[in-house]
Amino acid sequence: MIAERINRVKESGTMKMKELAGQKKAEGKDIISFTVGEPDFDTPKHIVEAAKKALDEGKTRYLNAAGLPELREAIARSSKTANGIPCDASNVMVAPSKHAIFETIMATVNEGEEVILPNPAWVSYEPATALAGGRAVPVTTKEENEWRVLPEAVAELITPKTKMILLNSPSNPCGSIATKDDIKGIADLAKDHDLVVLSDEVYEKIVFDGHKHYSIAAEPEMFDRTVTISGFSKTYAMTGWRMGWLIAPKPLFKAVNKIQQHSITHVTTFAQYGGLAGLVGSQEPVNAMVNEFKERRDLVMKLIGEIPQLHCDVPKGAFYAFPRYDNPMKSEEMALHLMDKAEVAVTGGAAFGEAGEQHLRISYATSKENIAKGLERLKNALA
Ligand code: GLU
Repeated sequence: MIAERINRVKESGTMKMKELAGQKKAEGKDIISFTVGEPDFDTPKHIVEAAKKALDEGKTRYLNAAGLPELREAIARSSKTANGIPCDASNVMVAPSKHAIFETIMATVNEGEEVILPNPAWVSYEPATALAGGRAVPVTTKEENEWRVLPEAVAELITPKTKMILLNSPSNPCGSIATKDDIKGIADLAKDHDLVVLSDEVYEKIVFDGHKHYSIAAEPEMFDRTVTISGFSKTYAMTGWRMGWLIAPKPLFKAVNKIQQHSITHVTTFAQYGGLAGLVGSQEPVNAMVNEFKERRDLVMKLIGEIPQLHCDVPKGAFYAFPRYDNPMKSEEMALHLMDKAEVAVTGGAAFGEAGEQHLRISYATSKENIAKGLERLKNALA
């Protein structure tokens, strides 16, 4: 019954651990979950109110596939102002970010073409590539280089079959941030070898210690070959709304638009009014959440520092710590062991690729109280 292409992919490592933690909790276990990357804050009130108002006003009908015109305008404006991306509303498509990644890869990568993507990296890039018939080519990133994707490492992997370079800064699961030089170097490679760049910038606002986020689409002559993806889930604590966006040059936009028309049609109409309120309203709630994430990051780093078996550089952005552990046990087994013995749920680093083996991903998008309790349990279990 099952199509052959499904054999090319495995279950999502992050969703698997999240669901397992949920199941254990339902069985009455006192699990502290550091699994899925989901802010524990409520969506800011004015966003919820705007969606409710839209529902009351009967904003329940079809839109164009690309989304609500006012929202596309607002996304274009903020991407131009904050990130220097030379776009207008006609380049913007409202789509759940994960779907936007699938759509972009489906619309660009031919059977057998290669996509260079970081390793470790978020769990769904490789499956999206494989389902489209492409081949993921991992560029190994290293702790000693702050887990950054170095242009010289990318250059070594380019072949005549390379179609795309996929970037994710700030990164999941490492919390690394590409420097301006990294971005410039990768842009040069894309131009020299005529490659498409998919830049997943969904953690763009969650950046600490004065580090800066750079959009590669803002580099000279890069807009016409780059698809930038971002969204509401992480910035505005709107994970369940399933809403983000992509920004693409016209020919690519048209190709992606066809997939959107034939798949989800568009993002839920009244939800888009909520997103609009988020973008045009006060950004104070975002600042408050980012400050809280920074305090949690500091707490996680302090507590990890007290666990002799864990080693971790300070993450610069997103809300993940990615410590290495001293133990021969494989990371998936280690994660299951910690769930059973310590009632702490983390994601094993190998879920993010081979280079993540012997690491654990700790999503600290949870309360300080949970962080303190969970890391105490980790400390005892690892001892
Ligand atoms: N991106 C988040 C994570 O890595 C959400 C889950 C998912 O989409 O995989 O945990």
